[in-house]
Amino acid sequence: MARIGLVAHDDKKDELCAWAAQHRHKLGQHELWGTGTTGGRVMAATGLSVSLLKSGPLGGDQQLGAMIAEGRLDMLIFFIDPLSAQPHDVDVKALTRLATLYDVPCANNKSTADAVLAYLGSVPHG
Ligand code: PGA
Repeated sequence: MARIGLVAHDDKKDELCAWAAQHRHKLGQHELWGTGTTGGRVMAATGLSVSLLKSGPLGGDQQLGAMIAEGRLDMLIFFIDPLSAQPHDVDVKALTRLATLYDVPCANNKSTADAVLAYLGSVPHG
């Protein structure tokens, strides 16, 4: 079982919910963590169980970053909105930086998320 973080900026939340619904069966075999709003939306859209952190701008991105630094997250699905400025841009950068630093697979769009989820089946976790 892998521990997967789910985050989407506001204009990307519908897309992440649709992606999660599409991969509902596979995601249901893993431990899901989400920033507050994203996680709640994914649960409502899919019926999957997601452990909720704080909302991203209120510290949820940093909580996911801490999980990565402590070796408690195996994969990050982080749908970033490339067309809007984010008030918590420093947190966004910090999270992607830690995912890079700790070599955690990090998907910032749907086709990469498809690829990393397929990759998940081929490596051991936990
Ligand atoms: P949210 O946070 O899921 O609470 O909206 C996402 C984000 O970091 O923007």
